[in-house]
Amino acid sequence: MTPPPMGNSAAARDIASVLHPYTDLKAHQETGPLVITRGKGVRVYDDQGKEYIETVAGLWCAALGFDNERLVQAAVRQMRALPFYHGFTGRSHEPMIQLAEMLLERAPAAHGGRMSKVFFANSGSEANDTAIKMIWYANNAWGRPQKKKIIGRVRGYHGITIAAASVTGQAANHKAFDVPLPGFIHTMCPTYYHAGLPGETEEAFSARCAEELEKLILAEGPETIAAMFAEPIQGAGGVVVPPRGYFPAIQKVLRKYDILLVADEVICGFGRTGNYWGSQTYDIEPDILVCAKALSSSYLPISAVMVNERVFEALATKSHEIGTFGHGFTYSGHPVPAAVAIETLKIYDEIDIVGHVREVGAHFQAELRRRFHEHPLVGEVRGIGLIGAVELVEDREARRNFDPARKVGAKLVKIAEAHGLICRAMVLDSIGFSPPLIITKPEIDEMLDRFGRALDELAVQIRRERIA
Ligand code: PMP
Repeated sequence: MTPPPMGNSAAARDIASVLHPYTDLKAHQETGPLVITRGKGVRVYDDQGKEYIETVAGLWCAALGFDNERLVQAAVRQMRALPFYHGFTGRSHEPMIQLAEMLLERAPAAHGGRMSKVFFANSGSEANDTAIKMIWYANNAWGRPQKKKIIGRVRGYHGITIAAASVTGQAANHKAFDVPLPGFIHTMCPTYYHAGLPGETEEAFSARCAEELEKLILAEGPETIAAMFAEPIQGAGGVVVPPRGYFPAIQKVLRKYDILLVADEVICGFGRTGNYWGSQTYDIEPDILVCAKALSSSYLPISAVMVNERVFEALATKSHEIGTFGHGFTYSGHPVPAAVAIETLKIYDEIDIVGHVREVGAHFQAELRRRFHEHPLVGEVRGIGLIGAVELVEDREARRNFDPARKVGAKLVKIAEAHGLICRAMVLDSIGFSPPLIITKPEIDEMLDRFGRALDELAVQIRRERIA
């Protein structure tokens, strides 16, 4: 390995000391970091003073942009009042109580009625691990200890702790880490663009996805399957939008075999899709709902797991028989992130975040399609509200992606950086968009102007490579 460059710059110090998440560690020793020092609205600035529009709000995170003073003040007030307390053994505090109430008031319809209780964690992964353990506990309480398997979906993303990574359906999170654990299985990704058959309608494709799910359940034995996890829109898997009728068809199968459904709303929650929840956009009635990220606009880490009455009953009523609900994090419901989340939700109400996303989201979706649908490098443009993706392909006709070894998506990200844009490339060279929810129409235009210039530059580069 090459020795890190000498010197005192932030880049050199980073290379010498930081082990980065989700980074090609060897390449990083040479390329070094992009060091971000401050943010304003939908923009961030690096240590050289260069300005970028953040097309994915960090990691689908900073819904209220990068400089919301009210969130800062909410944290400061709570720090002064009570900087730490916890929820173990029935201890509580006002921010945890109030945030739980606010989430339940805003929750979507749940299977069997409404959401009943909220558990807090610190990250999406922890929340999903929590949901898995709740499901296992509930099935023990229900006297069916063999009903434990968990279904995820190919290209689904649910985090990287060992159980969450097992539900995740992406090779990069599996192979080198010896996951998935036994008992975690995956059904097909509902990508109509790639898996739809010639002449097949979206509805027919959805029915086929449901049939595939049922086949999997029957092959494994329905009495062994506890739950299925699904993001309303698969985010990190490349922004895969479900085909029409998908979730109603899937839910019918799950209900038939008494399999719980967990909606992973870590990306889709809080207005992203043009409704408060992705579950409302796609007719999902989950038993359990997981959220994070926009919950606090990510200013401090916090996630939540909402459970319906049936699941709560299972956790609560048998605890004297099968053991206390022995699960919780030191920082579950930490008062400072909880206070920031409360302020975040209040702001969403005040600015009518859903109405705003519907309005600017319609513009974003129309512009994304108008500008890039016919671009020679673009196979599909997809999305809803303020989430979208442009998928790069080598052959539009055959819907054939570039050889992953060419790292075309990563190249575009690099070019975009030079044009003042921070982008995210995902599987199959899908470039995701999930800007701060507060983005305005002129900012959307500016973001897409810059993206268009980067895409054209990439096209020139690829043409040159072909000639060379
Ligand atoms: N679920 C979904 C849908 C996500 O997008 C993510 C993170 N991108 C996670 C879970 C995991 O969250 P975290 O990184 O906070 O553990």
